[in-house]
Amino acid sequence: ATPMSIMVATGKGAAAGVLFKNAEAIETLRRVDTLVVDKTGTLTEGRPRLQEVMPTQGFAADEVLRLAASLERGSEHPLAAAIVQGAQNKGLALEPATDFQAAPGKGVTGTIAGAHVLLGNAALLSANGVGTAALAAPAEAQRAQGRTAMFLAVDGQAAGLVAVADPVKATTPEAIRQLHAEGLRIVMLTGDSETTAKAVARDLDIDEVIAGVLPDQKAQTVKRLQAEGRFVAMAGDGINDAPALAQAQVGIAMGTGTDVAMESAGVTLVKGDLRGIVRARRLSRATLRNIR
Ligand code: ADP
Ligand code: MG
Repeated sequence: ATPMSIMVATGKGAAAGVLFKNAEAIETLRRVDTLVVDKTGTLTEGRPRLQEVMPTQGFAADEVLRLAASLERGSEHPLAAAIVQGAQNKGLALEPATDFQAAPGKGVTGTIAGAHVLLGNAALLSANGVGTAALAAPAEAQRAQGRTAMFLAVDGQAAGLVAVADPVKATTPEAIRQLHAEGLRIVMLTGDSETTAKAVARDLDIDEVIAGVLPDQKAQTVKRLQAEGRFVAMAGDGINDAPALAQAQVGIAMGTGTDVAMESAGVTLVKGDLRGIVRARRLSRATLRNIR
């Protein structure tokens, strides 16, 4: 492409909320055949809301929520914000947590009023010797609705289940239709459970789901698709997505997401509207036509 055609594409992109970092990003985009897309904050709004709290025998729902929220006050994860907000909406008084630790892709742990508290997925609890069998069926029922289920443990005992829902962005279904019309294969990549991911993917007609991926394995997954001969664009918003954005032939960050993601990406969608990818590809093809 000529410098002039790159300038034109850059300007048209910017006017449409699509920021290209460099000429390479513009030129490469038209060759992409696979879009790998993060679920939370990319396909969805990234602002989950509390839906359900289910205690096990011997615990009260408000106590489960109060402990979960007290612990999550120390976390910056969107899931944490949903739980803290849910507790505040109920007027529950939160307590300080000490020894707070975040296990990326798994959950959070800490001490509240002398009790050892864990909140996160089944892997986190099982790594700490806590079984979740009693909550497995209700958790799966929540996931089948596209919700994310988290388990609370208190002093080595499963105390309850907290479920949140993160609405799909209003622009996502149309974006997926347009991307399919361009012949792209769309792969969802998420740290969330397979059932939750598949429930969201089914409604969106996504081609493939890769779930339960730990944050540091996202880039590895992109690499594997590339090794299969795919030409990959990766769209994401989080710190966790940054290495995968850098690994992909084209990284696409949400302007609504973290700075780290934007720094690692060749393209930023200012408003996080995935239809911008189709726009960007049109501009990419237009630069090619200009040199013919
Ligand atoms: P995503 O890919 O959706 O951004 P993550 O990789 O951050 O998800 O987390 C994967 C899973 O780990 C979550 O679905 C949740 O079950 C658990 N988890 C991660 N962080 C937290 C947290 N702060 N509180 C509770 N659970 C968490
Ligand atoms: Mg995300």
